[in-house]
Amino acid sequence: VFNENRLRDLIRAVPDWPEPGVMFRDISTLLLSPSGMQMVHEHFAERYQDKGLTHIGALDARGFLLGAPLANTLGLPLVIFRKPGKLPADTIREEYTLEYGTAALEVHTDALNEGDKVVLIDDLIATGGTLLAATKLIRRLNASVVEAAAIIDLPALGGSSKLDNEGIKSFTLTSY
Ligand code: IMP
Repeated sequence: VFNENRLRDLIRAVPDWPEPGVMFRDISTLLLSPSGMQMVHEHFAERYQDKGLTHIGALDARGFLLGAPLANTLGLPLVIFRKPGKLPADTIREEYTLEYGTAALEVHTDALNEGDKVVLIDDLIATGGTLLAATKLIRRLNASVVEAAAIIDLPALGGSSKLDNEGIKSFTLTSY
């Protein structure tokens, strides 16, 4: 069964990384715990088993670690959203702003079809820019996002409410 305190014990906080003043929430310590990963996996799998989904959409790179086993358990196709220059076939791209500079995500144009219903998954929601960019890509392909899932929400950074304003429900297992 899901135990939020156990989950929190497995997430490491790294102060001043990648720059001074930032508290980085590190799930690599969770990945080192098979039972902790199993607990997280089962919680997501239970939530998404009967939602009428057609695809799991996973965000580069830590979202891949959650999305691949989830797609496998649910028997659903896995769509990967990647940083620029990684996907070899026809892609579409969404750029978004970071605190300094810009980032972008790409997806293969043939990965989704009109009417598809996707749950997006990543490790963490900060400003929400990453999940919003993936949502825009999905919508450009005439498919829809059922929910955006992550292990961690950082509500002070406003991402989950920004997603909500854009019509994207989010689901997270804990917040800091
Ligand atoms: P956002 O686009 O601002 O919501 O940032 C979320 C993206 O940045 C996700 O792909 C996260 O993996 C990454 N990220 C931002 N802050 C952290 C953190 O404290 N720990 C782990 N990943 C983070």
